[in-house]
Amino acid sequence: MGYIVEMGELFLAGNYRRERIAFVRGQGTRLFTEDGDEYLDFTAGIAVCNLGHAHPELVEILKEQAQRLWHTSNLYYTEPQAKLAKKLVELTFGEKVFFANSGAEAVETALKLARRYAFENYGKQKYKFLALNNSFHGRTFGALSVTGQPQYWEGFEPLLPEVTFIPPNDLSVIEEAMNEDICALILEPIQGEGGVHPLSKEFIEKAKELAHKYKALLIFDEVQTGIGRTGKLFAYQHYAIEPDILCSSKALANGLPLSAVIAKKEVMEALKPGTHASTFGGNPIACAVALKVLEIVSEESFLEEVTLKGKILKERIQNLDKYGQIITSIRGLGLLVGIEFKIPSKEIYHQLLAKKILTTTPKPQTLRLTPPLIINYREIDYFIEALEHSLKTIKE
Ligand SMILES: *Cc1c(COP(=O)(O)O)cnc(C)c1O
Repeated sequence: MGYIVEMGELFLAGNYRRERIAFVRGQGTRLFTEDGDEYLDFTAGIAVCNLGHAHPELVEILKEQAQRLWHTSNLYYTEPQAKLAKKLVELTFGEKVFFANSGAEAVETALKLARRYAFENYGKQKYKFLALNNSFHGRTFGALSVTGQPQYWEGFEPLLPEVTFIPPNDLSVIEEAMNEDICALILEPIQGEGGVHPLSKEFIEKAKELAHKYKALLIFDEVQTGIGRTGKLFAYQHYAIEPDILCSSKALANGLPLSAVIAKKEVMEALKPGTHASTFGGNPIACAVALKVLEIVSEESFLEEVTLKGKILKERIQNLDKYGQIITSIRGLGLLVGIEFKIPSKEIYHQLLAKKILTTTPKPQTLRLTPPLIINYREIDYFIEALEHSLKTIKE
């Protein structure tokens, strides 16, 4: 084992279950180890490097901005930040943008914004949150408090009180759970960390209708589903509704830390001067890169390709099902794909890893595929052959 892994094991916190692999370079859909081994990346750094590694146009922008200006604090305006906000507004339902650095921070902001908006408009008794079972919104206390997976809470309680959890896709339960005291309901259009479980169109429409009826804000956590991942720039654009607040991060700057909270002007006005802030939020380098990311990803032809590649990938996985019914379901939209197996997903994961293909296992029986959106058809073929071989090996 190389010195990077050894040094990491000695000095890094033990909070991750890392593979004993160290990558030193990335190019497109490929990652290279210190020993020169080449891996095909079907993780994109967990739906982050949507344009792959070392994308030449992004590298160029990053170099240019690094020579020009790194940081000013948010006491001043910078061109990349203002331009990125304008671009996000043009491409979404939103009118105003707040920048932070990570998904959890975007969620924290959304929760604080919802509380503050309710406080300003309806009084301080309207402070409760509605969230979904099996959701994932991040690891900070607020984000963790609306994360509906109790295994992540263990040893960290008490969390934020007054969060009600309901099962996804149950129209009557959400109807019963909604009331005047709720300031916001938060959901992921597709639960990514939860194992790639899409919400139904009916449920999303019901959530919107109830939010409107009870004057609560509808927060879409699109940290994972955004930036072209599902074949639309944001997943809400698949439906005939708009959220009140949208959280974006992960792929927004293709690997640089950046997140955005997008809302209508009337909502964002609740964040008056001094109510919320982030030192690094909207960093000029990250924003300059994100602007280029959005230019590329928002092209209609690019998004159509994502849809097509996702469709082909899923169809081809479906065709493998003839091998002993190991696969029980294939879920997702665009290039966010979950495969559910009758056997532990780790078994398939390790088979693929041995073939130098990287995937993730958000749940014990679910394998998740989030390749860079620039993946080509030949690489999809290669993946399918490897998966087919893995399934055969396991069956034998
Ligand atoms: C990854 C993720 C987060 C947390 O993002 P961090 O950058 O790790 O804080 C929040 N919500 C969703 C839906 C995510 O997938």
